[in-house]
Amino acid sequence: MSVLDAIGDTPLIRLTRITAGLAAEVHLKAEFLNPGGSVKDRAALAMVQAAEAAGELRPGGVIVEGTSGNTGIGLAMIAAQRGYRAVVVVPDKSSVEKTNTLRAYGAEVVITTGGVTREDPRHVSQVAARLAEQTPGAWLAGQYDNPANPGAHQATTGPEIWRQTAGRVTHFVAGVGTGGTISGAGAYLRSAGPVTVIGADPESSVYGGGDGSPYYVESIGHYVHPDTVEDVWPLSYHPAVAHRIERISDRESIEATRRLAREEGILAGASTGTAVAAALRVARELGPEHLVVVLAPDSGRAYLSKYFDDGWLRRAGFPAPTLPGPLVGDGE
Ligand code: PMP
Repeated sequence: MSVLDAIGDTPLIRLTRITAGLAAEVHLKAEFLNPGGSVKDRAALAMVQAAEAAGELRPGGVIVEGTSGNTGIGLAMIAAQRGYRAVVVVPDKSSVEKTNTLRAYGAEVVITTGGVTREDPRHVSQVAARLAEQTPGAWLAGQYDNPANPGAHQATTGPEIWRQTAGRVTHFVAGVGTGGTISGAGAYLRSAGPVTVIGADPESSVYGGGDGSPYYVESIGHYVHPDTVEDVWPLSYHPAVAHRIERISDRESIEATRRLAREEGILAGASTGTAVAAALRVARELGPEHLVVVLAPDSGRAYLSKYFDDGWLRRAGFPAPTLPGPLVGDGE
C-alpha cells in the first residue's frame, strides 16, 4: 500500500456536545484524516490520475497549481511519491504552517497578493497559469475548472457518506471553495436519495449573495464583484446542486471552530467551523428522523497561530472569546 492508497474512506464522527438540545443527529465527515491532511487529497489524486491518463503529465513533469494551500499540499505529496516537481502559488493570507508544509514535501512555493478578484493579474489562478505556460513539461492542475475535482467527490466522498449512514442521511452541509466537494458529493447524494444539500459560505462571499468584500476564513467563498458573478464562477461549482446557501460570519465560524476543539475534541480548521455553524443552524429546524452530515475539510493544526490564538483574534478586531479554558497562546 502506498501513501496514496490511504486517501479517502475517512470516518464519520457523531457530534454530541455542541448539538445539545437538537433533535436531529449531526455527523462530521473527518476529511482532516486524509494523509495530506485535507479533503483536497481526493481531488489532487483524481486530477493527477486524469492528467496521466490523458498524457498531459509525463514522467519527470512539473505539477503547477494556484491554491490557498490544501490542494497544493495534496499535489505536493503526490508529486513527491510519484517523482514529479511541484510549483504551488499561494495568496499571502495563507498560514505559515501551510506554506511550510508545502516546502516540507519539496514543493516550490510562489507567494502572491491575496484578497484580489479573479480578474486581477496578481490572482493565484492567473499567476499559476502564467508559470505553467512558461515552464517546460508543466501541467496546470486547475482545480477551479477541472472536472476531475467534483468527479473525485462524486466517485468517493458521496458514496462513502451514503454507505456510512446506511442511506439515513437527509442533509449534507459543506463549504464552497472551488465547489468540487459540494458539487460532486452533493450530486451523488441527491441521486441516491432525498438529500437536501446546503452550502456554507462566509457572509461577504459572493456564492451566498455577499458583496465580495474580504473575510478571514481561509479556503472557502469568493471575492468577486456581484455584477460579474455568473461569468467567473468556477466550472467545478455546479450551483444547481445546492438547495440553498447559509451565510456565516467570521465570528460564528471561529466560535464554532473553537467549540469543536474544546467540546468535541475535534481540532479542525475555520472552514469546518463555517460548515458546522451552518449545520447547527439547519439541524435546529429538524426533528429526530433527520441526519445531517457536515464535511470537515482540514485540521486546526495549520491555524494554531490564527483562529485559536486570542492575541490574533484581538488584533483582527474580534471581540474577546467567550469560551472558557486555557488560551493556546496570547500571540503577542
Ligand atoms: N476548506 C478548506 C480548508 C479547503 O482547503 C477547501 C479547498 N479550497 C475547502 C474548504 C473547499 O473545498 P472545495 O474546493 O471542494 O469547494
